[in-house]
Amino acid sequence: MSDANHPLLPLSTPVLAEGGGTVRIGGVDSTDGLRVAAAGGWVGPLLRGLDGRRSRRAVVADALRAGAEPEAVEELLGELTAVGLLVELDPADLLVADAGSSAAERTAPELPAAVPAGGRAWQARRAAAVVVEGATRVGVPLAAALAASGVGRVTVRDAGTTTAGDAVVGGLTAADEGRPRAPAAADAVRRANPSTDLRPLPAGAEPDLVVLARPWAASDPLVAGLRRAGVPHLVATVRGQTGVVGPLVVPGATGCLRCGDLHRRDADPSWPVLAAQLTGGEQPPSGSTVTCLLTAALAAVQALAYLDRAAAPAVLDATLELRPPDLLPRLRRWPPHPACGCRHATPSPPPAERPAADDPVPGVIADGPVPRPGGAGACDRRLRAVRQAHGGQ
Ligand SMILES: [Zn+2]
Repeated sequence: MSDANHPLLPLSTPVLAEGGGTVRIGGVDSTDGLRVAAAGGWVGPLLRGLDGRRSRRAVVADALRAGAEPEAVEELLGELTAVGLLVELDPADLLVADAGSSAAERTAPELPAAVPAGGRAWQARRAAAVVVEGATRVGVPLAAALAASGVGRVTVRDAGTTTAGDAVVGGLTAADEGRPRAPAAADAVRRANPSTDLRPLPAGAEPDLVVLARPWAASDPLVAGLRRAGVPHLVATVRGQTGVVGPLVVPGATGCLRCGDLHRRDADPSWPVLAAQLTGGEQPPSGSTVTCLLTAALAAVQALAYLDRAAAPAVLDATLELRPPDLLPRLRRWPPHPACGCRHATPSPPPAERPAADDPVPGVIADGPVPRPGGAGACDRRLRAVRQAHGGQ
């Protein structure tokens, strides 16, 4: 951590007295924690001062004035960083945070998730523009989630009129019935984060990401335009009762949606005829509330991973599917198709990895959720102690 950075101990981190003058910081769940002997009276004020608003140099100086020894302060800050409790804010992160106490309170729970992703994730989010195509039961909660997560500009495009079936938690409401969907969706985004820029992009400007929230977007003519313009696009929808997130298409770098269509055609010669019917006309609202919300949340995770440039999204050349009743994510691979010219096509995958086209069999690769680390006792094993965090007296 450099002196220029601003250390932040998120307000949600438990700081609890254990008795005997010892304080436990975090470590009450499966995450790492720290046990600190807090004699000397400076530990509490130091912890409360890790609010991300002051430089590390200022934090240390205050602790020294309160009677701490320099080595003790450095050890405590070092251990907090080592166990992942302390977040380093670049001062520029604060500059791009919205002004005002309400905006700061909204930002506080979001920053810890974004900033440890590395680099300038928060700044990238605030500068990003996302367009959601389709004010659906997935698209609108997803747009709201992205806005609440700090994405600076979020626009929902939809030329339709809200029906009663469009209403979903976090999205369009029952009161929106009969309204044009686009402004009703903008209201949902505004409710999630009043600081979000809702204006459509100026002519000629391309968003950082387009989310395709209609059920069968793969065959939509819009997609060809996105590919030609080099605009990254992510599918997030519910088809029937199945939530589908991905693929995330980065033109020139990954396979495209046509690749997926070609794989389906390989498995089912009737597919082109069927696809034409699936994409024709308005699709009725689909998906239960929990399926739509889980799909939206999963898509938001993928979108933020891409916008933050922090980690490779899981849905590059792949989809994550959520199927009732368990709704556990299953990964399906959709490699570039050799007959598609979108990318220098890779050799055909071995049969075991071929996409399963449109059959209802669980994904070819069913990775399932990531196992939860640790169980009973993990907390104790991970609780580290700071030996020297005593006062200087
Ligand atoms: Zn392709």
